[in-house]
This record gives sequence, C-alpha cells and structure tokens, in this order.
Amino acid sequence: MRALLVALSALACTVAMQAAEKQLEIFFIDVEGGQATLFVAPGGHSLLIDTGWGYNAYRDANRIAAAAKLAKIKKIDYVLITHYHTDHVGGVPQLIEKIPVGTFIDHGPNRESSKTTETLYSEYQAATSSANHILAKPGEQLPVKGMDVTVVSADGNVLDHSLPGGGQANSFCTDVQQKASDPSENARSVGVVITFGSLKIVDLGDLTWNKELELVCPNNKLGRADIFVVSHHGFDESNSPALVHALQPRVAIMDNGNKKGASPAAWDIVKSSPGLQGLWQLHFADAGGSEHNAEDPFIANVTEADTGYYLKVTADPDGSFRVYNARNKLSKEYPATR
Ligand SMILES: [Zn+2]
Ligand SMILES: [Zn+2]
Repeated sequence: MRALLVALSALACTVAMQAAEKQLEIFFIDVEGGQATLFVAPGGHSLLIDTGWGYNAYRDANRIAAAAKLAKIKKIDYVLITHYHTDHVGGVPQLIEKIPVGTFIDHGPNRESSKTTETLYSEYQAATSSANHILAKPGEQLPVKGMDVTVVSADGNVLDHSLPGGGQANSFCTDVQQKASDPSENARSVGVVITFGSLKIVDLGDLTWNKELELVCPNNKLGRADIFVVSHHGFDESNSPALVHALQPRVAIMDNGNKKGASPAAWDIVKSSPGLQGLWQLHFADAGGSEHNAEDPFIANVTEADTGYYLKVTADPDGSFRVYNARNKLSKEYPATR
C-alpha cells in the first residue's frame, strides 16, 4: 500500500512538473510603484519588462532575482525597457550585478530634456554598453522564445495596422477627447502585446492617453485582451475608456504603489470595463480609500511597510489562467473562454 502511495505521489509530481513545463508564468514584482514584470515561458525562456528603481540598497534587483529563482531561471534572456523614467530603468545597473541578462530592448535615445532623465539614460547606456541591444519598432515581433511578443508602440510611434483579432470599429472612441500633448518619455513607451496560445496580455508601460487613442481609434488595432497590465500604475493621464473598454480585459493588474498611481478616475474606468472579472493591485493605494481599492484578498501589499509581496499569473495555452497573491496565498482561477 505504502509503495503504491509513493508511486502515486511520484506520478502526481511528474504530472505537475509536466504541466509547469507547458505554462507561462508572469511575476508582477513589487517595486513600490514602478514596473518589473517577469515573463517565463516553457523551457525557461524569459522576458523582464522594466527593472524598477535604482538605489534603495538593491531592493528591486533583489526582488527580481528572487522571482527568477522561483521561476528556476539563472539568466534573464531579454530585458525590455519601456522608457527612461527612474521607476522603470533606474534598476538596470544593480540588476545586472545580481543576474545575467542576454539582450536589452528599448526605444532608442532618450527624448526627454530633463536632467534626471538624461542622467538615467547615460547610466543605462554605460551599464549596458557591452550588452546586445534591440531597437523596438511598432509592428515588429521580438525574438523571445515560447511566447509571441509584438511591439505596438515605441518612441512615440504606434502600429500602422491591426493585429490578428483587431481592427474593429471602436464605439468607445465617441465621447473621448484628446488631452494636452505629452512631451515626456511616457508617450515614448514601448508597448507590447504578448500572446501565449489563446491568451493575450497587453502591457503599454506608461503610455499616455493620446497615444492610446492612436492605437484604438477609430478602429481598435489591438483587439480584445485577457489580461491588461493597467498602464502607468493606474494614473489618469493614461487608461482612457477608449483603450480599456475596447480591450475588454477579463482581468486587470495594477502595478501601483501605496502613494503612486491609482487615480480614482482611472480606477473607475478600469472597474467599469465590460466583462471585467477581476482587478488585482500590487498595493492598497491611499488615494482611493475602500470604495476604489480592490477587495483586500486581491491586493498584494496592504500596509505602508515595504512588504514586497508579488502577484503571479500562471497561464495555460488554452487561455485559462490563475492569479496568485503571495501575501495571503489566495489563488483564483479564470477559465478559458475561447
Ligand atoms: Zn512609471
Ligand atoms: Zn514614466
């Protein structure tokens, strides 16, 4: 009997390992209101979107390295830098001390004339001078194995054609006005659409409102998404209803901080998105109070303390996925729909 149980548990273990080998894992690493999202495809092929902040005694580099360890990878194949703000690119010099990186992907030179951004860009250039680089261009596919990664925005340019599943007239454009043009690096963000089997994820970095409209009005070039990484930490300079409601995400994940991002107006737009089944946040955000924040179980970090809990998505090629909260160990299943 005991031998049978041992054999059965070994079999269950093997089945679980085989399942894991066919899944995409996405770690939404808490970098306290910046971005660092690690995608690990079957076979250990990996893409990190942004590196969080620098300084802070390797806080964000350590958290990224810890997520890589959980994903059982010893190297990050590609690091995509959406733009040259400190909460996205600041962590690069520390990260490469903690874990090897294969290739960096970015939109080309910094275009923002501020001392801070110019300094960050030269630090990034110095730290990656001997590394491989890819210049991201809208419409091009990135050579990440195990998932399809298509650039949809970069350096202020957006896709000039629709992706498969996109191209529909977008009725949500009707009442949406342009905002003042944005001269910052945010509007230059490298945005990507990632597909893994039937699953589709949209991550546009800090791309701002008018560029979103170029992507989805009058026709929605992106189509619908399963998971929307809420743009720009949930600020209302991004996340127009024309974008969010046309994407119709099943789940939205906000990489906000306790006091960063999460504008109530953007929250209302995300939460009223047709078909939304869940909103998850990296932090409880003071700006929103209990009426705007997601319910407690769906928030990774609920106090001001630097607790550093992550959210993790595990996805199957059929489009089903689950979201896991490292703080309370809650895991919620979202079945395949197509
Ligand atoms: Zn940011
Ligand atoms: Zn930014």
